[in-house]
Amino acid sequence: MADNIRVRFAPSPTGFMHLGNVRAALMNYLFAKNQAGTFILRIEDTDEKRNIEEARAKILSDLEWLGLEFQEGPYKNGPYAPYLQSEREHLYQEKLAQLIEMKRAYRCFCTLEELENKRARHIALKQPPRYDRTCLRLTENQIQEKLATNLPFIWRCKIEDGHTATIADMAKGSIFFDMKNFSDFALTRTNGSSTFMFANFVDDWLMEITHVIRGEDHLTNTAMQAELYHTFSVPLPIFWHLPIICNNKGEKLSKRDFGFSLEDLKTAGFLPAAIVNYLAIIGASFKEEIQSLEELVTNFDFSHIHSSSSIKYDLEKLTWINHQWIARSNSYEMLEQLKSLLHKDIPTSMQTDAQELEKLITLLKPELKTLNDIVPLAAFYFDTPVIHKEDLVAHVGAEKTEHILHSIAECKQFLPNIELFLEHLKTLCKKHEISMKELFGSLRYLLTGQFQGIGIKDLLTILQPAIIEQRLSMN
Ligand code: GLU
Repeated sequence: MADNIRVRFAPSPTGFMHLGNVRAALMNYLFAKNQAGTFILRIEDTDEKRNIEEARAKILSDLEWLGLEFQEGPYKNGPYAPYLQSEREHLYQEKLAQLIEMKRAYRCFCTLEELENKRARHIALKQPPRYDRTCLRLTENQIQEKLATNLPFIWRCKIEDGHTATIADMAKGSIFFDMKNFSDFALTRTNGSSTFMFANFVDDWLMEITHVIRGEDHLTNTAMQAELYHTFSVPLPIFWHLPIICNNKGEKLSKRDFGFSLEDLKTAGFLPAAIVNYLAIIGASFKEEIQSLEELVTNFDFSHIHSSSSIKYDLEKLTWINHQWIARSNSYEMLEQLKSLLHKDIPTSMQTDAQELEKLITLLKPELKTLNDIVPLAAFYFDTPVIHKEDLVAHVGAEKTEHILHSIAECKQFLPNIELFLEHLKTLCKKHEISMKELFGSLRYLLTGQFQGIGIKDLLTILQPAIIEQRLSMN
């Protein structure tokens, strides 16, 4: 591997981070840390017009929440500042001037409509829709005439005839692009500002990025950027095109799929540790699936990268990982977050003091798949559950329901001695061939309104004796 590894996460401030972005950020971070390199944040904000400040701040806060700390970037600076593309236009203009000087860039005056017609014609003739270089053939006089009438234009990069661009990809090895299949691409927009293609290339070059780690959807951009590296005779970075994350129909994940946006997952009560854990292990093999960010840094094997072009998003797996991470987290640390969820949805929970809440959370923690599960799971503690005898009947049958209710009524006298209460209850139920599962399920239902949940002993310990008495008084 090269010395001084420098990688970058280069999001556009769209105001929303999706799992593809998060995975790109994560892989850049893990690679940099693993190789003792530098992880850079560069915000590609030349295109976005609305709420740009807010959207930039959101990227920073999302990265912080995920624990992906960068060494160089906006508001932090570093030797290659500025790290906001909107402050780097002069650098792109400098490089554009060099391309023009080398006669590798030309003005294109074709209107969008003209381009669209040409495209449609190519497609109708079953030809690849490439730009036909009309404007490359303009004479100097024709160009001056058009400029004199203030006709808008863009600069295009002239692809070298017969050139095959080659890139090295960490997962796929060498990839060759026959450049005759590509159009002379746009370097600027009609307002003179640089395109993503050009600015992104200039920045990677000037920021001395050694490895470009980004989504597979950028592969054709990579080909065109390889052309630019070739034109300027600068060495190419190594690339790693990350597989596209797909839903279970095999389609690229979109806003419609739950959990595509980081915000969805955050509000649904997923922990950052679980999200990064999941995104690191999909498409890779690990002996241990549950790994912290620090463990992933050491254990991720960058010399054996799978080269699939897509990976399936498995919400169930992510939820399982989240469950594992919640169970491992310290109740005290999660207390504030869980408390605010409870206070928001169960107003009566505000009367419970912090110590008592912590006790309850510790008991329920192993049951939580997401933090938000705390609300339905803990509701029984604050509000009397609504109980229907028919539900019990549906669960264990009419006869057993009667036996269970009678046995409970008989054994209640032993409370608050839980051991004694349960011992007698079990004996009575055995006589009526009621299984432990049926008994405990029914007891739990009467106390919480749910057949599944925390252990009976824990339940009887955490609820006040008077409340137990009242809830078990159904007949
Ligand atoms: N701004 C581009 C994006 O968000 C960056 C792609 C890249 O990493 O080069 O897709």
